[in-house]
Amino acid sequence: MPPRFDPERGVRASLRGLQPYTPVEPPEAMAASYGVPLDRLVKLDANENPYGPSPRARAALALDYGAHRYPDPDQRRLRDALARRHNVSPETIVAGAGSDEIIDLLFRTYVEEGDRIVIASPTFGMYAFDAGLHGATVVDVPLHDDWSLDADALLAEAARVKAVFIPSPNNPTGRTLPRDLADALLASGALLVLDEAYIEFSHAESLVARAAAGDPLVVLRTFSKWAGLAGLRVGYGVMPQAVAHTLMQVKQPYSVSVAAEVAALASLEDAALLDERACAITGERDRMADAMRATGWLDPAPSEANFLLVRMQSPLVRSLSKGAAEGDTETASDAVVMREALRRRGVFVRVFDHPRLRHHLRISTGTSEDTDRVLAAFIEAGEEIQVRNEAAR
Ligand code: PMP
Repeated sequence: MPPRFDPERGVRASLRGLQPYTPVEPPEAMAASYGVPLDRLVKLDANENPYGPSPRARAALALDYGAHRYPDPDQRRLRDALARRHNVSPETIVAGAGSDEIIDLLFRTYVEEGDRIVIASPTFGMYAFDAGLHGATVVDVPLHDDWSLDADALLAEAARVKAVFIPSPNNPTGRTLPRDLADALLASGALLVLDEAYIEFSHAESLVARAAAGDPLVVLRTFSKWAGLAGLRVGYGVMPQAVAHTLMQVKQPYSVSVAAEVAALASLEDAALLDERACAITGERDRMADAMRATGWLDPAPSEANFLLVRMQSPLVRSLSKGAAEGDTETASDAVVMREALRRRGVFVRVFDHPRLRHHLRISTGTSEDTDRVLAAFIEAGEEIQVRNEAAR
């Protein structure tokens, strides 16, 4: 008798013990588990765009766009429109089901089991997740305490690895990659994957032109944040033509749905409006940051993205999770205690399972009403925790 299939031992060796990616819950599930009416939910946990799709994108989605046909595997219309937007050749662009797909494609194409890639933590979790999927080793060059990059260490490691993954602005810190460090990384010998998912909310200059011109660089962009299409899953990369050519051969042909394609095309026609919305979002982000600083115990890091990384300061917060020592990973972190107190008030924000982020929350920018709700919820939750701590004394 041939051996019986074993669903556990049959798993690829490099995937056993894989750390799964932590995605966000859908709003319906969150509303149900916290007893909050769906229309009272303030969802600021996934850096989504509070305005949703642009008017032209909504109109395009309401038409008969041919959902019964397969999408164009060569993505001609979308790549042409993106090429015009960035003034590069369509041959340098690959679109995917979110920029997540381009990250996955880069690993599938270029990263072999045992290869090393560099990240600078805390950062977007998808790079390490994909490295795990592909059996690659993650070399972490931690950010400095002010969340700036450790340029010397990064350059030293870059010279020894296959690829370096850096978001600019970074998620969750909101800081951008300095131009001179980008130049140095491009000369390091590694492939630089520069993730510009949040660039529309920053003052940073995009490096798409350099990627298209053939530097060892892939620039990632997405319609999820700027264009409010996170649920449709559409993003893209700009890269040297030879890289794009290979990625197009490796990728699943139909991963960008026809709905995603028409919405993305219509969004590009609404670019001026989407830029205005991005501007409103950064204005709101700054208002939220000022109001938080005024509390005296919420300390947001300067951000060039559509979110804030907020440190909760002592003395209030040191007492949040009583008995939890710095570095203690067993007890709920201050961040988790506060996240729960906010959730009970209908406000959903992100915490991280990272030793340096036990006192931090990441809060996306919503509408000005959302900001008011967040601030009120923080004040109430802070008072509740203080009262509880005094009673326990
Ligand atoms: N890059 C960064 C830095 C992100 O924060 C995100 C989304 N959280 C993504 C990429 C993925 O975006 P998409 O929806 O295009 O897959």
